[in-house]
Amino acid sequence: MTSELIYHLNLLPYSREELLLIVKEKVSEKRFKHILGVEKASIKLAKAYGDSVEKASIAALLHDYCKELSDELFIEEIKKNKLDCDLLNWNNNIWHGMVGRYIIENEIDLHDESILNAIEIHTTGAKKMSKLAKILYIADYIEEGRNFTGVKKAREIANKSLDEAVAYETSHTLLHLMEQRLSIYPLTIQTYNYYCVK
Ligand code: GDP
Ligand code: FE
Ligand code: FE
Repeated sequence: MTSELIYHLNLLPYSREELLLIVKEKVSEKRFKHILGVEKASIKLAKAYGDSVEKASIAALLHDYCKELSDELFIEEIKKNKLDCDLLNWNNNIWHGMVGRYIIENEIDLHDESILNAIEIHTTGAKKMSKLAKILYIADYIEEGRNFTGVKKAREIANKSLDEAVAYETSHTLLHLMEQRLSIYPLTIQTYNYYCVK
């Protein structure tokens, strides 16, 4: 049971219960429900594939922490941290992870690079993803609240192979973006080349 999960690793100055309250304050009710779904799916994958349940929980609870922040705040953060100027050409979809990790690091006092990196790339993937990053990327896609065409198949694949689940999700996300003629973030293409090409 998730509610019995106690954080032992001292990665945060908070217990799981305190972190839940902080996140709840920061996002809408609908998004909070999604976040809890991602935590549940992440913990299940961490157990199945032998990764840290505690890190999976923290990464999931914080992955969309910055999703409702203003564009101005992200632009300020990109400048303050002297991040790649190309980021200024993107939007919240890309910023809430790629830039959000710096906001989370400061606001939550979380400095674990493996968790921060998983949050950073949770939308796009990357060419070499840690097990934790794969778990978060997949859990975000298959959590119980998701109900798009193909989610059942994605859940089945996630039970068999993390790499195959990354490939399935990436190719479907790309198809979806291209159908709408939306811009593709370069890291998403790198994920495709690394995990999808046979
Ligand atoms: P969410 O935060 O739980 O909604 O999920 P994600 O963080 O995975 O995705 C946020 C949004 O970014 C979704 O609408 C994705 O389709 C979109 N997205 C994912 N990859 C890319 C990309 O390469 N380019 C663009 N423009 N959008 C993307
Ligand atoms: Fe997200
Ligand atoms: Fe999400």
